[in-house]
Amino acid sequence: MQLNPHYAELNESYLFSTIAHKVADYQKAHPDADLIRLGIGDVTLPLARPVVDAMHKAVEEQGHKETFHGYIPSEQGYEFLREAIRKYYAQRGVTLDLSEIFISDGAKSDLGNLLDLFSADNTVLVPDPVYPVYVDDNVMAGRKVLYLAATAENNFLPMPDEAPAADIVYLCSPNNPTGAAYTVAQLQAWVDWAKAHDAILLYDAAYECFVTEPGLARSIYEVKGAEEVAVEVCSFSKIAGFTGTRCGYTIVPQAIVRGGQSLNKMWLRRQTTKFNGVAYIVQRGAEAVFTPEGMREIQANLDYYRKNAAVIAAALDEAGVWYCGGKNSPYIWLRCPGGMGSWEFFDWLLDTARIVGTPGEGFGPCGKGYFRLTAFGDAARTQQAAERLKAALATL
Ligand code: PLP
Repeated sequence: MQLNPHYAELNESYLFSTIAHKVADYQKAHPDADLIRLGIGDVTLPLARPVVDAMHKAVEEQGHKETFHGYIPSEQGYEFLREAIRKYYAQRGVTLDLSEIFISDGAKSDLGNLLDLFSADNTVLVPDPVYPVYVDDNVMAGRKVLYLAATAENNFLPMPDEAPAADIVYLCSPNNPTGAAYTVAQLQAWVDWAKAHDAILLYDAAYECFVTEPGLARSIYEVKGAEEVAVEVCSFSKIAGFTGTRCGYTIVPQAIVRGGQSLNKMWLRRQTTKFNGVAYIVQRGAEAVFTPEGMREIQANLDYYRKNAAVIAAALDEAGVWYCGGKNSPYIWLRCPGGMGSWEFFDWLLDTARIVGTPGEGFGPCGKGYFRLTAFGDAARTQQAAERLKAALATL
């Protein structure tokens, strides 16, 4: 018996558990401290009413013999939900076949599970900084990870002309943590590069719903030829508050074929073997996201978070702190003032303003000296945080 040796190569602890420990220690030492949490990227608004109503109805169906649903006819997901997603993409001019849409219990699971389809010998390219899960998934599998620096110089949007040779490339747009989002033209360069290098792009669109500016991509399939080289992973977590309800989807195009093997068929085989689908009740709730009433309420929620982002941005503008993001993303990425390191700024902000944020270097070495604040908080508390932030920054 041998344990997987690669677990020993992982960074000691996941970023957010380190933060949770630090905050718990601080609270123990300062039991009366009124902390405002702008750290973890969890949403705070409840599910939209049409989503809740759809799930109530589905629960009731499960309680009657005539309407009961057992194992899901296709592990790939109910057709009613895949059809709703197909139409959501069609509105943006993206044509998908139902067979290319796979319902998941969230983006995080599929980002890891997709690696089952690739050889352990593949080299992986991961932007730095980025959602830490991409790196850990690959380290666990013993894959070689290369980093692609995202810096202020390239507007936190690294392009393929800076890329080393790699087989699998992760792209996250709008990006967590920087909030930077690729244009369709920039993604075209990535698709062309992937074709030229026989690489696969794993495109994480978890924050596509925050894109408002024209020209920015919401799906990689807005790019010509992307269906030959890109898998897209998306989620109901941020668009519709499903962080605790759990549902997402992954697009694996039929056009991706390598060495005579269809990636879509491999993924279907993998899913039918290792996954028994997402709860009927949850899939009914997710379907309601795409109804006119569902979309109306969800857009109002997204606007609520956008206003929070504007409030934080205004405070940083007033204090003269450099930042990006917050426009097509719920994240604001700021340069730590006074030359502070990102963990140093974390401690300073916690102590001075009682605000919990996320140190940039937790997302990769290029995040050193940067800091992430999220717009997912309560509006009144975010306003309060902005006031505290201004007052604290004024003392520097
Ligand atoms: N991808 C990115 C970039 C994220 O930031 C997150 C969560 O914060 C996820 C995926 C996970 O999404 P899900 O809740 O669907 O697992």
